[in-house]
Amino acid sequence: MTAAPRLADAHRLVVKIGSALLVDPASAAPRAGWLAGLAADIAALRARGTEVIVVSSGAIALARRALGLTRARLRLEEKQAAAAVGQIRLAQAWAGALADVGLTAAQLLLTLEDTEDRRRYLNARATLQTLLAMGTIPVINENDTVATAEIRFGDNDRLAARVAEMVEADQLILLSDIDGLYTADPRRDPAARHLPVVAAITPEIEAMGGEPPPGYSSGGMRTKLAAARIATQAGSAMAIARGHAVDHPLAALEAGARCTWFLPAPEGRSARKRWIAGALAPLGVLIVDAGAARALAAGGSLLPAGVRGVEGAFERGDPVLVRGPDGTALAQGLAAYASADAARIAGHRSDAIETILGWRGRDELIHRDDLVLLGG
Ligand code: GLU
Repeated sequence: MTAAPRLADAHRLVVKIGSALLVDPASAAPRAGWLAGLAADIAALRARGTEVIVVSSGAIALARRALGLTRARLRLEEKQAAAAVGQIRLAQAWAGALADVGLTAAQLLLTLEDTEDRRRYLNARATLQTLLAMGTIPVINENDTVATAEIRFGDNDRLAARVAEMVEADQLILLSDIDGLYTADPRRDPAARHLPVVAAITPEIEAMGGEPPPGYSSGGMRTKLAAARIATQAGSAMAIARGHAVDHPLAALEAGARCTWFLPAPEGRSARKRWIAGALAPLGVLIVDAGAARALAAGGSLLPAGVRGVEGAFERGDPVLVRGPDGTALAQGLAAYASADAARIAGHRSDAIETILGWRGRDELIHRDDLVLLGG
């Protein structure tokens, strides 16, 4: 069997926390002690250089009682109202717990559209990268109050997987009330076997997801498997681990607590590159000099300094073709600047971008993560 990934090897980690872990059912308040333990684990990872992003549920659960919404099933607008009240409490809990271990929390509220629309996607990704570079801990939830039924993730398992994909995280950890995937529901079937490593999400594995849980709860094994499919296809490993009644859940995972690891698909990271290279028709052309052509061939990003010409009309995030001085198509990528801005910064050093445009965007005109070399 292939070895399971180790938390210690991750450069960038996304951790998803469900409402049931974070919110005490008796008091309907955040479980401060548990959160303190998790924050300490995050601080330990961060101190070793691992970047950590949190995806946290709990907004609705933190507000239901205060609003008298105690029925098991809520209408969409009731959930959205509860989220509006509870998100403040959730953010406060995280900001406090992280501040206690010397970390700064940053809140992002995303919808499905933000992860599918190319421009919003690039914006959200750039913000996340900046926040990580600044040493903060992004804490993400779904923007429940604006999401309509059609554009809701509805569950944070899938949101967390999209975030892992967006930031190219090495690992996604879903902290749950169960320590992984079993061949059948272990609460009902005593013969159910725990699976420590899942190399591929086959139809047999999908069948182990069972039925979605009844009532209010949005998660269950089915959405975790959907998350595993997204994350592993994007090149991230994913673990389902127990967070319930475990005071330092990430430290416990590192120390070998039982969990299920889903291994990244071998083709994972290249899938996005194929999408950039194949699925999108370029809307413009950047003509680069010989130095930039060499830098691209060596795996570098495209800096404005090496750009000699800009053709076509494109917006930030649109696909563009990169041609060499002799017209050869060298690469395709997603532009970090709209064509008008690209034309103005072309030929200039990146530290002049702010003076030229009046605002400072990325140093690169196309970041290497958004660039695919053509022609072999
Ligand atoms: N976004 C919802 C909340 O914060 C939770 C969704 C989920 O738990 O999957 O309450």
